[in-house]
Amino acid sequence: MMAQYLALKAEAADCLLFYRMGDFFELFFDDARVAAQVLDIALTARGEHAGEKIPMCGVPVHAATAYLQRLIKAGHRVAIAEQTETPEAARKARGSKALVERAIVRVVTAGTLTEETLLDSRAANWCVAVGEAAGEVALAAADVSTGRFEVIACDRAGLAAELARLGAAEVVAAEESDAPATVRRPRGDFDSGAGEARLKRLFGVATLDGFGQFGRAALAAAGGLVAYLDHTAKGQLPFLRPPVLAAARDAMAIDAATRESLELTCTAAGQRKGSLLDAVDRTVTGAGARLLAADLGAPLMARDAIEARLDLVQLLHDDAGLRERVRAALRALPDIGRALGRLAAGRGSPRDLGQLRDGLDGAWTIGERLGALEPAPALLRELAPRLRGHGALIDLLKRALVPAPPIEASEGGYIAAGYDAALDALRETGSGGRRAIAALEASFRERTKIAALKIRHNGVLGYHIEVPARVADPLMRAESGFTHRQTLAGVVRFNAPELHEVAASVTQAGAHALAAEAAHLEELTAAALAGREAIAATADALARLDVAAGLAERAAEGGWARPSFAAEACFDVREGRHPVVEAALAKSGDRFVANDCALGGAAVRLWLLTGPNMGGKSTFLRQNALIAVLAQAGAYVPAATARLGLVDRLFSRVGASDNLARGRSTFMVEMVETAAILAQATPDSLVILDEVGRGTSTYDGLAIAWAVVEAIHEDNRCRCLFATHYHELTRLAERCDSLSLHHVRAREWKGELVLLHEVADGPADRSYGLAVARLAGMPPATVQRAKAVLAKLEAGRARTGGLAAGLDDLPLFAAAAQAEEAQCDAIRAEVEALDVDALTPREALDTLYRLKALA
Ligand code: ADP
Repeated sequence: MMAQYLALKAEAADCLLFYRMGDFFELFFDDARVAAQVLDIALTARGEHAGEKIPMCGVPVHAATAYLQRLIKAGHRVAIAEQTETPEAARKARGSKALVERAIVRVVTAGTLTEETLLDSRAANWCVAVGEAAGEVALAAADVSTGRFEVIACDRAGLAAELARLGAAEVVAAEESDAPATVRRPRGDFDSGAGEARLKRLFGVATLDGFGQFGRAALAAAGGLVAYLDHTAKGQLPFLRPPVLAAARDAMAIDAATRESLELTCTAAGQRKGSLLDAVDRTVTGAGARLLAADLGAPLMARDAIEARLDLVQLLHDDAGLRERVRAALRALPDIGRALGRLAAGRGSPRDLGQLRDGLDGAWTIGERLGALEPAPALLRELAPRLRGHGALIDLLKRALVPAPPIEASEGGYIAAGYDAALDALRETGSGGRRAIAALEASFRERTKIAALKIRHNGVLGYHIEVPARVADPLMRAESGFTHRQTLAGVVRFNAPELHEVAASVTQAGAHALAAEAAHLEELTAAALAGREAIAATADALARLDVAAGLAERAAEGGWARPSFAAEACFDVREGRHPVVEAALAKSGDRFVANDCALGGAAVRLWLLTGPNMGGKSTFLRQNALIAVLAQAGAYVPAATARLGLVDRLFSRVGASDNLARGRSTFMVEMVETAAILAQATPDSLVILDEVGRGTSTYDGLAIAWAVVEAIHEDNRCRCLFATHYHELTRLAERCDSLSLHHVRAREWKGELVLLHEVADGPADRSYGLAVARLAGMPPATVQRAKAVLAKLEAGRARTGGLAAGLDDLPLFAAAAQAEEAQCDAIRAEVEALDVDALTPREALDTLYRLKALA
């Protein structure tokens, strides 16, 4: 057995091996140590290997899912080795001591789950492969629980952003690749030629052109992904829909740091609660919640697609009755996408078929209702027919299945009466037999005068007669007509020819009925899978409808507005709010102060925002970034009005000291990220910078912040909100014509600081740092002392002109660059004019001195 175990373990070296032994999955050696610790179960020992006791632990098969869940959560992968023959078959074939054959039937990994209990119904579960070829990079992503399959062409720089968008449960790459992966697979799996062949085979097509133009990296990624799924499923490849080819540029570019800082779909602590998604999500189905998360993660760049989504949201927003009916209907629907995924992966149950029946039936009703609307927005006209399909399948499932089919198929009882006459007859025989057995029991009691006599059933003896031991003697005699089978502590068990006969017919009818049901289950599953692509399209349509209805609900609840879009790069928001902060304040009964923002278009492009800590600067910055995300995702926005030009890239950076939790040299991170913005932001981008430059000494920080503002203003020319506590930066307003000054208002009232959270024009009049310190509960004596120190410092500042003294005659960024260029030109001209061969050594030296002076 150990030899068999070790061979299987060698096949799945990077996994924990669940080795099936009867009713248990056993783990041995290090696997046992790891599992015992993660699962908090007893570690025992068994036999010896190489002179040492073998550590072992086990989990019961019937409860294996719960244990699997914990192991997967803890980051492990689990290979399942099942018995592939029965012990009887093994004995028959190879003698009484034969070892049962086992094989790995599946590798359970975080990215390849389909089980309802192992998945979060409101989150997609992506398994992603990274493909590389000819200097290109591409990603292939599959959610095998629903069959979604995307191939994304990106570049090396965009890789991390795409991985962050998908939030993949697992990332697969070739062994030699330096891509950030959780799993490495052989390089051969990522060969683009083999990948193309694999995809063609999988989708039964002669060419992939129908799905779009795949580059070599895309083929490598898709091929590598399919190979990996095939490997984990051991040949039973899960359901994959034809790949959707996307380019990262179809969506607003949001890098990983920005995603994290804006907390779009999860908070910095990794929680959904507290994220934008959580504040917006009013969907009523798992599929809707998953689609909303995808939408917010990838706001669109195509205006007509955004408007199409908004038209549907508006229809449902304006008609509250319709919205409520649609939501009520959706709420009652099962998750057909995931039911289909399980059926296709060969892990389906009668209940999954029941869910398809109910889900498709419900979709039909909704589709009919919506299809009748006039006039209907274009997106609805596209969705309605997809909802009303599958009439034949619904009919079939309605006739074939009982109203609430069980998850467990092995006990039968899921095929409805009247569907199959032969099955009905078998069931009739069975229940007739059971009635006959009950009658026999009565007649046996009569005959033996033993009132406590019972007919029982168990797996070993089948049907048998049981009497208490103290009255069993008469039945032991041969002429009694009973045959002794077994004596236990208090009871004795017998058989009788009449019982034997009836029992045989019951058992046989039961077995035949089970077999008939199993055959029907297989046919019905095949019938459902025949239409799987259309069913998946119905599931998508339901999800899209749920997202729209949920957004409409959220908008109605919060008084949100439909955004409008402009051709020019403007950003004009009236009475904007931050949905997460507003909700948090509402809980404590506080009111959120709405604020306007106007960037680009006729207004200036760059706002410099000053004001006291806790005054609401970060909140204001973020709320505007979130409004851009929501608008382009096709949602209403928390504002009275919003008009914006499409944002191609969104950046959000927070000064280092807010990010201490990240553990790296935070100032270094801040600078790396700021450098990325300066390199990538275009005139269509939106950038929010919060206290950049704060992570270093005052002079360094001010200098860096100054230069960054200038560069954004002069070079990137993007829309930008820049919050800073360097009051000195306000001097930039005099030299940068597309920059304006703003502050968050505060007032001292009877010695108390009052933060108004109102954004107003002009610079802050003072910093209120000491007032904030007092507000924070700093001891009065310390505040007093700080006041004295401040007075001294301010006196010094007045004398010397302060921190920014001398900056007034600093040439502007562009002017500085021009001066530098002129200097380079002068040096170049001088060098070009040189006739090196004609120079005396003395002249050469002079020339060098002159050039040095020019530089
Ligand atoms: P800053 O960045 O200026 O230090 P924050 O944006 O972090 O300030 O805001 C601090 C706190 O003030 C927030 O947690 C919130 O409770 C409150 N706040 C911010 N903006 C508003 C607003 N517009 N209306 C009401 N309260 C606000």
